[in-house]
Amino acid sequence: MGTPRTDLAHVLKRLDGNSYGAYKQLKGGWRVGDVELLVDRVQSDPYAPPSMVRLRVPRKVAGVPEQLVESAAKRIAAGDFLTRAFGGAARNLSPDGGKGSGGIFMVRVGQEILQRSSVLIDEDAIEVRCEIALPAAGRRIKGRAAERLLTEVLPSVVDRSLIFRNLDAAAFELHVRSYLDAEHVRSQLASRGLVAFVADGAVLPRASGHRDEPLTSHAVPFQSPENLRVTLPLSDGTEVSGMGIPEGVTVIVGGGYHGKSTLLQALERGVYDHVPRDGRELVITRADAMAVRAEDGRAVTGTDVSPFINNLPTGADTKRFSTTNASGSTSQAASISEAVESGAEVLLLDEDTCATNLMVRDQRMRALVPGEREPITPFVDRVQALYRDNGVSTVLVTGGSGAFLDVADLVIAMDSYRASDVTDRARQVSAEFPSGEQTQPTEKFGELREHAPAAATPSKNDGARGGHGGGSRDPDRRGGDRGGFREKPARGRGLGTIQRGREDVDVSSLPQLVDPSQTEAIARLLDQIDREADGRQSLNQIVDRLMTRVERDGLDVLAHHRGHPGHLALPRRQEVHAAYHRERR
Ligand code: ADP
Ligand code: MG
Repeated sequence: MGTPRTDLAHVLKRLDGNSYGAYKQLKGGWRVGDVELLVDRVQSDPYAPPSMVRLRVPRKVAGVPEQLVESAAKRIAAGDFLTRAFGGAARNLSPDGGKGSGGIFMVRVGQEILQRSSVLIDEDAIEVRCEIALPAAGRRIKGRAAERLLTEVLPSVVDRSLIFRNLDAAAFELHVRSYLDAEHVRSQLASRGLVAFVADGAVLPRASGHRDEPLTSHAVPFQSPENLRVTLPLSDGTEVSGMGIPEGVTVIVGGGYHGKSTLLQALERGVYDHVPRDGRELVITRADAMAVRAEDGRAVTGTDVSPFINNLPTGADTKRFSTTNASGSTSQAASISEAVESGAEVLLLDEDTCATNLMVRDQRMRALVPGEREPITPFVDRVQALYRDNGVSTVLVTGGSGAFLDVADLVIAMDSYRASDVTDRARQVSAEFPSGEQTQPTEKFGELREHAPAAATPSKNDGARGGHGGGSRDPDRRGGDRGGFREKPARGRGLGTIQRGREDVDVSSLPQLVDPSQTEAIARLLDQIDREADGRQSLNQIVDRLMTRVERDGLDVLAHHRGHPGHLALPRRQEVHAAYHRERR
């Protein structure tokens, strides 16, 4: 970029009244007070997406104490905190009077503390990646307004949100400590044989179905049943007590409206760490736990669903099952297999969102439809083998069917939002009302065949381009061949859609995909998977290698010239796999 120029105010004054395109001159590096302003991309007109900008504030100027940023984990939490601080200050200070006065925008974030590319803390500086809408009158530059925005408002936003002495130090410290505590608890789960932990006092219900903030009125704080209570050390050596859910098969029962789904949803989100005052700061689930639900209509390509579906009347091979429009049961069977393939060691299921015929089959149906005529082996018959053979635990919510009581290692009852251990009582019930043929546990779960994406098929003029996104001709994917290299890199569109070439990949049914910046990161990872695929490595190996690199070197390894550098957040391997499998081929 060369040495930053210092005459920004002067240049903006001079641009006043010019046609909007003249803003292109801003591209490059500028010094505004102590801040270095790097304009990476200038919007071509007032209605285009805002300009992409980075700000670098020297560490010495920011004055963030070393003990808040000295480890990689602390820098993740600190970057997340500063993203929120900058976003808040930008909303308060930048005139959002539309195109006329322009505005400063930071990526929107939710309740999770995530590794993000919006604020990076390196040796020398805090680097913020934001967007700036440059002011216009019609299609002309408003130079004075731009001068005010970039040389007055922007420095005040920086002053308020990145200069430590102006920040709420206690809130900053709490943000970092919450994150370290949550990470510390999660790191202890496996060695203690637990799949999840729910702290006493946690607030699980949310404000509403659409709002992820805590329910504030009449929320009943979580209280652990005595015999499931465990005490774990936090990062500073103090302790927290709560309910430990052990490995194996856990069933959550209870009457309708007594808080079963709320508990399960908190466990789903417990793979992430939450901001202070969220209520779920210490609801912690193993990082790879995967919520699985029925998703009829989804595409399935070459997935091994044979543990659950076999002997289809069509004679289709269920070790490599494909459909463009799966039913509830096949979609869920595929999602379970794919979750296991992706390395999930915990499955989270809620009867509310499961396909009944995949989960259970009652005595009468077993009698009426003989086994060899029924392609489905219900989950209830496989769930124990899945744990024994593959080490995959299950936590399942059920209100309507008692079939799982026969195969549960632990039964938790929810009664008016209070949890209790009713395993003994459930055993008595199972003995009193023997289900007979209701469950027929199988000996083995069976080996799952893994996906091995095939090498891209270069298009004719591949040499001229080489670069973004490869097509793939996966032997799994008989139905289609994307062929040739894509022109445009894949990109996220909001939380629930990834645009790849002409296809929109629907990822809206993944309950553990929580941030549009994760969706954007996954989009870029899908392109990289195509590039690395060679037909020999399994999908798991490729995803694992890519993710290890991102975790080690940062999200910037996913940067490319088109996307905004600040709009990336770390996804889980599980959602990368899940997105890959939802692409229609
Ligand atoms: P279930 O799955 O058992 O039918 P839900 O989990 O859907 O029940 O909860 C029913 C309602 O109770 C929801 O509106 C939820 O927000 C609320 N709720 C859940 N847990 C609590 C709690 N601990 N305190 C207060 N309200 C709660
Ligand atoms: Mg429910």
